[in-house]
Amino acid sequence: MKLIFLGPPGAGKGTISQRITEDLGVVQISTGDLLREAVKAGSELGKQAKGYMDAGELVPDQLVIDLLKERIAKPDCEEGFILDGFPRTIPQAEALDQAGVKVDRVVNFVLEDQLIIRRLSGRRIDKVTGKIYNVNPEGEPQPPAGTPAEALLQRDDDKPEAIANRLVVYRQQTEPLIAFYKGKGILADINAGQDLEGIVRDAENAIRS
Ligand code: ADP
Repeated sequence: MKLIFLGPPGAGKGTISQRITEDLGVVQISTGDLLREAVKAGSELGKQAKGYMDAGELVPDQLVIDLLKERIAKPDCEEGFILDGFPRTIPQAEALDQAGVKVDRVVNFVLEDQLIIRRLSGRRIDKVTGKIYNVNPEGEPQPPAGTPAEALLQRDDDKPEAIANRLVVYRQQTEPLIAFYKGKGILADINAGQDLEGIVRDAENAIRS
């Protein structure tokens, strides 16, 4: 099964992927995570990507396309995958087609700007496990009780200056993919504005339908 999770930052794509990959027997591929690993490792790719990422801009297509192709060629992808955060532009989607990847379903996470900003500002990542939490009072999932603030990391691009830009970038460059995949008849919209259990349920239903 080959799936794409599409939608604005903060809509829950990563969180839901982490929740359902095991059930589906597929792996999660987050180009954002792969890029952040490259930055941390200090590789040539990481050096090229860092400035774009911190500013909330997209990393140039060719860099991300090469990275993604290398990743999906690995043996653990044979049973299928969820692409979380790729494609993000029409040229990236075309590159996927040209690489012969046949996508079964595109789950489109729909969420309004106000909620996106709220969710991103509360997002924290566990430094050790990489698990995604939300520290807003209404946020989900909450970090385990007693987790010290130092154990959690706030991404540079989750700070207010970068969030606004990421939304503009999303609407301009990524949203056109909705029509692209609708045209192929494989898009399913889900309401990402509900609680986590509701989103998981709707995402699983969209994938099975
Ligand atoms: P989010 O979905 O919360 O915006 P990601 O972790 O998916 O965050 O991505 C973080 C950053 O990594 C993006 O703002 C962008 O700079 C870069 N990035 C990730 N995936 C892509 C992609 N497919 N194309 C271009 N840039 C990407």
